[in-house]
Amino acid sequence: MTDALTTDATLLPAPLRGCLYCHAEGTVTLGESRKVLGIGSSTPLLTCSQCSAVAQFEEGATADEWRIRYRSANHAARYYYVWLHLGQAGWLDADAALTASLYGFVQRYRLQQVLHGELNWLRPAPLTDPPSLMSPSELVYLTLNPASLRQASKRNGVLAMNSEDPVQDVGRCYVTDQKLHLLGQRRDWAHKLSEVQRVDQTERYWRVYVGDSGQYYQGENLPGQMDAQLFAAVIRVLCKPDLNYNGS
Ligand SMILES: [Zn+2]
Repeated sequence: MTDALTTDATLLPAPLRGCLYCHAEGTVTLGESRKVLGIGSSTPLLTCSQCSAVAQFEEGATADEWRIRYRSANHAARYYYVWLHLGQAGWLDADAALTASLYGFVQRYRLQQVLHGELNWLRPAPLTDPPSLMSPSELVYLTLNPASLRQASKRNGVLAMNSEDPVQDVGRCYVTDQKLHLLGQRRDWAHKLSEVQRVDQTERYWRVYVGDSGQYYQGENLPGQMDAQLFAAVIRVLCKPDLNYNGS
C-alpha cells in the first residue's frame, strides 16, 4: 500500500501538477517534509523526477493563493533563468512563481533558437535617428540600458572575475549586426564585432571583451530585461555570422 499523501499530485493546484522549473508534465510527486526533533516545517514537498527540483508548498485560503519555495534545484546551463528566479528566490507567491516559470520557459526556448542561429525574433531594424558612430544601415538586435564600458585590471582568472574594474562610461548599449555601441554619459563608443575577443556570462552579468587592452562592455541581469545568458548567446552568434543561418 502506498500512502496517498506521498503520491496523489492531483490534490495540487492545477499549475503545480507540471514542473514549474523544467516544465515537464506528470513528473511531480507530492510528499511531506519531515520535522527533525520536532523542529521545522511539515509543509508538503514537491519533487520533480525530470529535473530533481524539490520545493516546499504551502496552501493558501483559495486554490490560487499558494506559495512555493525551492529547497534544491538543477543548476545546469539550460536552467539559467529558473535557477535565478525560482531556485534561489525563497518563498514566492503563486503569481510570482508562475510568472518566473513562464519567463523561464520562453528564455530557454529563445536560447535554443539563438544556438541554432535564429535571430529574426529579435526583429532587427535600423534606428530612425542613428547616433554618430552608427551607420544608417546597421540593424539593431539588442538594446540595454544601463550598460557600462570598463577596463580590466591586470589580474587574470578567478580573481579578475570577482573584482570591480574601473568604469570608463555608462549609458545605453546597442548591439547591431556590425558593432557594439555605448551612448555614454561622457561620449559615444563603438567597437566592431570583429574586435570582440571573448563573451562571458555569470549569474549577475554578461561581458564582451574588445581589442587587446582588456576593455569590455558589461550589462547586468535586470528585471524585465533579457537575461545575461541569452544576451551573451546572441552576441556570440552575431560575431560568427558564418554560423548564422536562416531556416527559410
Ligand atoms: Zn522539473
